[in-house]
Amino acid sequence: MQSGLPVLVLVGRPNVGKSTLFNRLTGTRDALVADYVGLTRDRQYGRGVFEIDGQGRAFIVVDTGGLMPESADPLAVLAEEQAQLALSEADHIFFLTDAIAGRHGSDEAIAAQLRKLGKPLTLLVNKTEGKARGGAKGVAVADFYALGLGEPEPISAENGDGVPGLLRRVLEKFPAGEPDELAEVPGEVRVAIVGRPNVGKSTLVNRLVGDERVVAADRPGTTRDAIRVPFEYEGNAYTLIDTAGIRRRSRVEEVIEKFSIVKTLQAIESAHVVIVVVDAHADVGEQDARLMGLVAQRGRAMILAVNKWDGLDPGDREQTKYKVGLKMPFLDFTPVHYISAKHGSGVGVVMRDVKTAYDSTMKDLPTPELTRILERSVDRHAPPAVLGRRIKLRYAHQGGSNPPQIVIHGNQTDKLPVTYKRYLANEFRNHFELKGVPLVLTFKTGD
Ligand code: GDP
Ligand code: GDP
Repeated sequence: MQSGLPVLVLVGRPNVGKSTLFNRLTGTRDALVADYVGLTRDRQYGRGVFEIDGQGRAFIVVDTGGLMPESADPLAVLAEEQAQLALSEADHIFFLTDAIAGRHGSDEAIAAQLRKLGKPLTLLVNKTEGKARGGAKGVAVADFYALGLGEPEPISAENGDGVPGLLRRVLEKFPAGEPDELAEVPGEVRVAIVGRPNVGKSTLVNRLVGDERVVAADRPGTTRDAIRVPFEYEGNAYTLIDTAGIRRRSRVEEVIEKFSIVKTLQAIESAHVVIVVVDAHADVGEQDARLMGLVAQRGRAMILAVNKWDGLDPGDREQTKYKVGLKMPFLDFTPVHYISAKHGSGVGVVMRDVKTAYDSTMKDLPTPELTRILERSVDRHAPPAVLGRRIKLRYAHQGGSNPPQIVIHGNQTDKLPVTYKRYLANEFRNHFELKGVPLVLTFKTGD
């Protein structure tokens, strides 16, 4: 059974247009995740949405080219661990080539590798804009038949030619909507526990769920199934979104799972609240921050658990706290707890925050109340004038949950300074007591 989003993986030698296509597929929506100002998008892992018959189809995109320095040999790129993992987890591969440069020796070497994989694949000939169908385009494309990967498809990543048709054909093969097992159940608090290997995820899971339950969930499945494990903690019901990386650890013959960012993304996708676990004994750093960035990009409520707090002397604790503050982004509303999964200290507080964050992320925000807060905020502090015309903000309504989204209608809203958007976000956040969650503000101009 399909569980989780379809995974599309981009492969090709440098400069064929992978990152251009990645940007096109993942897009930049008009929404501002107000609290994550300064968040840079991940250039390797992204999420896209494409509409088929009025229904948004979400998918994950991985750009394998982004996983290594640009100068690297393209085959070395494919040999890289995360690229190999991504290919093994791919539902569909886009192999990009370059119509302007023509067929290249590296294209053939990559084609040979991809043929061995035997995964669903589309051979794309990029940079074909401005070439007439049939004539020049036909010639440019025909050259790539020789790669032996079926019919080459002309696209232009830069201006989008051919991309919607391509996405439609690929995504139509996957079921629409949420798989049954991840359909929203009222009151079900879905928690994902993510982090680098060895930070203590399995230990935390075992503490929360109990060993037997984790083992019980360890049934063979597809490579990227996110399994739901219901559990109770201090009288509250939760569902753990379990990834293979966590489950397998509890086996007697300890199988060392490779750390899969794609699986982590699937778990984040399915969760209401994500607990990011980092290891106080290790160097808290870039990788951890990157994981937090992925959670933030998806707009999930997030709690940072700095684990293995036991056995650290006061000097080390001081230094770890300093490093966490320095290196971890978005901590302004992300609760941070220093815990010991092994001994249980701090775990109760983390779970209470999970509950609070869930209540915030699923909260109903009634239109009259939103509009009243908007009016009150504008009265207290009016938006600036642009070329002598005041920016008007008229009313607001809720655009969605998990993360909470507020849509604000007015005119010239595209001219609103970021500082003002942040001010509004804070007003809404304080009034509705939205804790531990990002808040997405979208602006619509009516004139
Ligand atoms: P990557 O190394 O495979 O990720 O390639 P990039 O996306 O960085 O693109 C390499 C170069 O090709 C850049 O200068 C892009 O602007 C250009 N490029 C990408 N897509 C197209 C396209 O569809 N048409 C044209 N003409 N140029 C493109
Ligand atoms: P995972 O790879 O993230 O699932 O990490 P594990 O749960 O397998 O833990 C990795 C190692 O860290 C194991 O040896 C654990 O016993 C140890 N560990 C986990 N939590 C704690 C903790 O709170 N304190 C200490 N001192 N060790 C811990």
